[in-house]
Amino acid sequence: MTILVTGGAGFLGSHLIDRLLDEGHEVICLDNFFTGSKANVAHHIGNPRFELMRHDVTEPFRLEVDQIYNLACPASPVHYQYNAIKTVKTSVMGAINCLGLAKRVKARVFQASTSEVYGDPDVHPQPESYRGNVNPIGIRACYDEGKRVAETLFFDYHRQNQVDIRIVRIFNTYGPRMHPGDGRVVSNFIVQALRGEDITIYGDGSQSRSFCYCDDLIEGFLRLMNHPSLIGPVNIGNPNEFTILELAEKVLKMVASSSKLIFKPLPADDPLQRQPIIDLAKKELGWQPTVELDEGLERTIDYFRRLLA
Ligand code: NAD
Ligand code: UDP
Repeated sequence: MTILVTGGAGFLGSHLIDRLLDEGHEVICLDNFFTGSKANVAHHIGNPRFELMRHDVTEPFRLEVDQIYNLACPASPVHYQYNAIKTVKTSVMGAINCLGLAKRVKARVFQASTSEVYGDPDVHPQPESYRGNVNPIGIRACYDEGKRVAETLFFDYHRQNQVDIRIVRIFNTYGPRMHPGDGRVVSNFIVQALRGEDITIYGDGSQSRSFCYCDDLIEGFLRLMNHPSLIGPVNIGNPNEFTILELAEKVLKMVASSSKLIFKPLPADDPLQRQPIIDLAKKELGWQPTVELDEGLERTIDYFRRLLA
């Protein structure tokens, strides 16, 4: 198949492209390099089945493809809040452009949605049926509401135009190729620990997240995309939940770092807890995570150790 991956030069996009090329597909990577980098896909340059396109998903594109994975969108709060209006445009217009293309060429189209559609959840853990608790006017809304509208558009194109859709709700995922300046918690803590800098805990560190290793997530993507009928949304994540303080202590120990923990104010609307219910993925996709946090952190620490050296 010929497969378009928007946001393909980013952290997750580049891992997805590795898998798709391994499986023998032709891959077009479309990216504006806002948070992604050519370095993430440089090892494919010269492969005749790989094409790299500098383009912004908010602008229309015409291509002949069989499948589209729409991952283009900054994912770290620091970067999606940098230009909040652009973040909304990326999610909404990016979805419309992908869906329009899918409709024209009859491609199957996959949306990288997020656990952020649940906001600061008052139901815990979160099943797909939970409708969420998002502040529509807060600093995270550009991302959360953008992703919610994208899901709406996917379902409306599906109902109105029979577009063949897939939606995954990704819970916090980490691994090699996260940008050292990404700003998300796992890469921040590892980079800080390796550099001997203070570890920045926002709030008192009692808020929790459930961390999934990138390879597990990508396996879930492929199973959903290639499922004959399940359209989602499907939660994909690792249900093992840790507080941010536990994560910091783990990283410090694994890096054998002398960094100190420092406490900074908790950003507005920062969700206090998050854990996926993955029964649907288990039952329908036969998927469950296989890499636990210690092992995934080891691999990610190794990556950053080499990168920073
Ligand atoms: P990332 O920031 O590394 O990747 C995003 C990619 O999209 C980058 O390559 C960036 O340059 C590109 N991009 C951004 N705006 C664009 C635009 N207007 N046009 C074209 N390209 C654009 O982040 P990631 O973690 O790889 O996230 C990939 C996708 O998965 C995102 O849609 C994100 O919302 C979603 N997601 C990720 C997580 C996670 O934990 N990693 C969780 C939930 C959802
Ligand atoms: N966080 C932190 N220190 C950091 C970066 C993040 O304590 O240097 C916290 C953040 O406040 C949040 C959690 O870690 O409670 C996860 O943050 P991240 O930005 O990785 O993802 P998200 O909030 O989108 O789940």
